[in-house]
Amino acid sequence: MLVRELVDHINATIERQRRHFLEGKTFPLLYRKENLARLKRILKENEKEIAEAVYKDFGKSYFEVMENELGLVYAEISVHLRRLGKWAKPAKPPTSLINLPGQSRVYPVPFGNSLVISPWNYPVQLALNPVVSAISAGNTIILKPSEVAGHTSNMLAKIINENFPAELFHVVEGGPEVASELLKNRFDKIFFTGSTRVGKIIMKAAAEFLTPVTLELGGKNPTIVLHDCDIKMTAKRIVWGKFHNSGQACVSPDHIYVHESIAGQLVEEMKINIRKNYGDNPEASEALTGIIDDRHYNRLMGFIDNERIEIGGRGLAESRFIEPTIISRVMHNDSIMKEEVFGPIMPVLTFSDLDNLIESLKSKPSPLALYIFTRNISKAKKIQREFRSGGGMINDTVVYFVNNTTPFGGIGDSGMGHYHGKAGFDCFSHKKTVIKKPLWFELWIKYPPYTRFKLRLIKAFLK
Ligand code: NAD
Repeated sequence: MLVRELVDHINATIERQRRHFLEGKTFPLLYRKENLARLKRILKENEKEIAEAVYKDFGKSYFEVMENELGLVYAEISVHLRRLGKWAKPAKPPTSLINLPGQSRVYPVPFGNSLVISPWNYPVQLALNPVVSAISAGNTIILKPSEVAGHTSNMLAKIINENFPAELFHVVEGGPEVASELLKNRFDKIFFTGSTRVGKIIMKAAAEFLTPVTLELGGKNPTIVLHDCDIKMTAKRIVWGKFHNSGQACVSPDHIYVHESIAGQLVEEMKINIRKNYGDNPEASEALTGIIDDRHYNRLMGFIDNERIEIGGRGLAESRFIEPTIISRVMHNDSIMKEEVFGPIMPVLTFSDLDNLIESLKSKPSPLALYIFTRNISKAKKIQREFRSGGGMINDTVVYFVNNTTPFGGIGDSGMGHYHGKAGFDCFSHKKTVIKKPLWFELWIKYPPYTRFKLRLIKAFLK
């Protein structure tokens, strides 16, 4: 049960935001740009405090907070500030014959009051980048960050709630019970990032009000390595992608399918890269984080089978640190293949027939990303075109996520909808078509009485 004050606070904030939106306050582009600039300014002013909070949550280094948390938010804000004027312009498509001599316009208009619910694994970036899109498109926002990254959630609430008018943007902290309370209310748009399980709960709650949802969910991202790949570069890029954020990323390469002829070589190259990147004492490396909580730490340690460890495998329960680990000779029915790994453990499986492998992957839930390593680019492109995944890469992993010129999102079990750059602006905008008709002409054939002559004309127009 939530305390009465919190419920009252939620209801009052929603009401304030509703009025603010209905009064048209969020419509002017200048207002939106001022608030995007304000967000950037307060983040810059509080960089040190934010980095400390993220560090307390799971030991992420200052470098990485700048690189893949705040840096990505700054870049997202910059692209919206630069392009918003262009994106917000009404489109002027041609008008179909039946509506001539009318003039068609498509206005991107804000949905209204939005709710953003975010996960713990990139606790700044995944909370604020949807908010950037929401502000840019002219919506109000209630943000509920993840309680699991509690220090970051507290820090975001403090700096946002002290610096933003609550009628535009307000942070409400708490766990599932607070999210459930928020979801009892009508929002005009819900943007959720998190697990597939909770995504379904969100969508059910949204259905009550017919609220459009964007769901950025998880999944097991396969990484397929063909016999003709550049082994050294493949190993380097897989290792970087897998152990970034200690594997706690939605776009992390979850597991590897390597052609049996090069499996040994690939594993050896990956070990070389692990030693090079993280040294002999990986727990001291600032390129690795801790595991977010004991539940995940114990879950991940349960995947490690000592007999099949190629490198790593050691865990430090107190600091919740797990070494970058490779496990080979993994089978499809091993427990690690039954859920998203979401940690620094890479299962390696082999294959001999690519077509069989692709066929078997097609019967599994659609992942967020598919990664393919090969020199045969046309084959890789064909597989990417035909395989159902949210996105993917050829000859690299993870970094497609940071492209803010292309839409990012999942499909099927990995989610629905897109954001990043223009896709983010579109995600929080309704496309409103308005056709202006002149008064000097009227299409008389649409009026009764219906005659055979009018029917002939209609048939001639509408074919
Ligand atoms: P989660 O689903 O447990 O939690 C996400 C958010 O939902 C949190 O704010 C949490 O408080 C809230 N929540 C939890 N239970 C709820 C309930 N019953 N009702 C309403 N809200 C509830 O996810 P997580 O553990 O924070 O994040 C990890 C998952 O998110 C992984 O599956 C990962 O792949 C996925 N993810 C996806 C993306 C993406 O962009 N597609 C990005 C990051 C993480």
